Amino acid sequence: MSEAASYSVRDGIAVITMNYPPVNGLGSALRPGILEGIRQAEADPTVKAVVIWGSPKVFSGGADIREFNSPKAFAPPSLPEINEAQDGMKKPMVAAIGGFAMGGGLELALGCHYRVAAPKAQLALPEVKLGILPGSGGTQRLPRIVPVAKAIEMMTTGNPIPAEKGEELGLVDAVAQGDLLEAAVAFAKKLVAEGKGPRRVRDMTARVDGDVKTFFAQAREQVAKASRGYPAPLEIVSCIEAACTRPFDEGRKFERERFAVLVETNESKALRHMFFAERQTTKIPDVPEDTPTRPVKSAAVIGAGTMGGGITMSLVNAGIPVTLIEVQKEALDRGLATIRKNYAATVAKGRLKQEAMDQCMGLITPALDLAAAKDADIVIEAVFERMDVKQEMFRKLDAIMKPGAILATNTSTLDVNAIAAVTQRPQDVIGTHFFSPANVMRLLEVVRGAKTGKDVLATTLKLGKQIKKVPVVSGVCDGFIGNRMIEKYGQQSLFLLDEGCSPQQVDAAAQKWGLAMGPLTMGDMAGLDIGWEIRKRRYVERPNFAYSKLGDRICERGRYGQKTGKGWYRYALPDRKPIPDPEVERIIADYRKEIGVKPRQISDQEIVERLIYALVNEGAYILEEGIALRASDIDMVYLTGYGFPAYRGGPMFYADTVGLDKVLAAIQEFRKGYMGEVWKPAPLLVKLAREGKRFNG
Ligand code: NAD
Repeated sequence: MSEAASYSVRDGIAVITMNYPPVNGLGSALRPGILEGIRQAEADPTVKAVVIWGSPKVFSGGADIREFNSPKAFAPPSLPEINEAQDGMKKPMVAAIGGFAMGGGLELALGCHYRVAAPKAQLALPEVKLGILPGSGGTQRLPRIVPVAKAIEMMTTGNPIPAEKGEELGLVDAVAQGDLLEAAVAFAKKLVAEGKGPRRVRDMTARVDGDVKTFFAQAREQVAKASRGYPAPLEIVSCIEAACTRPFDEGRKFERERFAVLVETNESKALRHMFFAERQTTKIPDVPEDTPTRPVKSAAVIGAGTMGGGITMSLVNAGIPVTLIEVQKEALDRGLATIRKNYAATVAKGRLKQEAMDQCMGLITPALDLAAAKDADIVIEAVFERMDVKQEMFRKLDAIMKPGAILATNTSTLDVNAIAAVTQRPQDVIGTHFFSPANVMRLLEVVRGAKTGKDVLATTLKLGKQIKKVPVVSGVCDGFIGNRMIEKYGQQSLFLLDEGCSPQQVDAAAQKWGLAMGPLTMGDMAGLDIGWEIRKRRYVERPNFAYSKLGDRICERGRYGQKTGKGWYRYALPDRKPIPDPEVERIIADYRKEIGVKPRQISDQEIVERLIYALVNEGAYILEEGIALRASDIDMVYLTGYGFPAYRGGPMFYADTVGLDKVLAAIQEFRKGYMGEVWKPAPLLVKLAREGKRFNG
């Protein structure tokens, strides 16, 4: 027997123990041991029943992700072969589920004839989150044991259910009180004593109330609504329908076919790419995983405005006490009131307990004197976005903060090196660029200055994870990864308007393609005056750059977006939905006359290509300049910070799926068109396209 699984017999009950850290992933090292255990138990006449388990903390997390994309994943025996052995077993098999049974782990448990679970166990078939479906009988077995509607819900959302719920649904036969293994062995002995044999899930019947066709037509409609752009949920529904209408083996065959189709879809490839991308972001080539980190037990946040408040919430949510500092009492009170209001809204929705809110609020110490920050392990500055203000702040922090403290800035555009340069400890200075609302958005761009210490970087990445963010490292440049790219995207959205599109046409095309919202709606939400201020600065700094002044014409009329009730659209209460506005049409028409452009019809395809390839081309520059470490980091920035649809896999992955030669050809075409000078193809894109390569390996 392999080391990953052990076998023992006690009082006529065979116990197969999975012991393959960290999560008993059903990898090539573990599968043979399980099968061998089943065969041994079958062959031993003294054995009357079998218990399979892991530990009180884990049953199995399913497929071993370390073997994804490796031939080892296909080494025999496969999970379906194990399931067949379970089905063929003449003695009852009991799964003792501690911690969690996920994906293939739950399919293994479903292959058992009975299930006993620890009270805190979680059960799930989350394959849909990777754009696939449970491929080892999950779609056929689950609806045979729990109500079909529940099986649809579990598999199309991928969300876990607790043991108790499992018992209510029939998935769990008993919730174990006390020692899990003891309870499972006792359960098995009772089965033997009562003369109960195997109870195979495959022999049960999946039934729906009423007409099957009508039931599944309704289910499809519901699931389609919730799964815009994702094929897997609907395939899952089809497999469950097969479980209700066909014999088990036919249903299994259908499941296998649909699995094979899904694995090859771009959507599933994209979701798997994002899954691995997330696990890559903290791997820094010159900062090994064992780099010592500094303890972060307390923090200080300077500025209780929009960002400072959200940053504070993120920290205290993770149990890190924060000293929140402002210059004026009114601003401090306002900041605290906003934090309290945000928590209270979550409590009102039932998503947070009042005690948890009180605990978080209790971790915040308000202060009006900067000196209150001095003992914090990290200080995060979120004051006004002006270099002179930031530098002044860092001079003061340098004088105040204890040695070894990390000095972080939340700047979104300023040079972190220039901020670090005013201190005597540039090695301790780093950028932590949170996204708004900072307590909600998962992205955290960690800006590594030229002199940032490796331990400071490692500590900040660790802290980022601790506060449940996705930390992505960026080098120093204007806008870092995300905003530097989005500027080019915003620029294209305006050029499209100059040339003939309406705001609603651009937004609709972007949304139809899968973005959470179009660029003009996004501008209205963020506030158009912010971009206007930046442009005014740029007109002076980069006078020869190609700009559309259309955004200025909108702002000149006081249309700053949602906050003024009008921007690219009009917003009316109560729902503040964007309404197309004839005044905007006139402004656009006048501007076209001003610049001498005759409007033309522009296809949705061109709109999407110009918006997305603008991101891709700038992303390629960012990659070759070393601002981003890898293409998948850029994809992660867009997924977690900009509402990019996961099933497209981020801009760089999307370009890979289109083919870089095609992307380059389109860019070269745009180069001949309106404001074509902005389309200078990145040398890296040209090189990779020529070599037939991809951004993502
Ligand atoms: P804000 O105007 O809402 O808040 C800034 C706060 O800092 C104000 O409450 C002000 O009273 C306080 N402040 C100013 N000087 C101070 C001092 N010397 N000591 C203590 N407090 C002081 O601004 P914001 O939107 O929260 O932005 C803060 C920083 O975060 C800026 O650098 C900005 O570029 C960056 N940022 C903003 C966003 C965003 O979407 N708003 C996103 C990412 C990063």
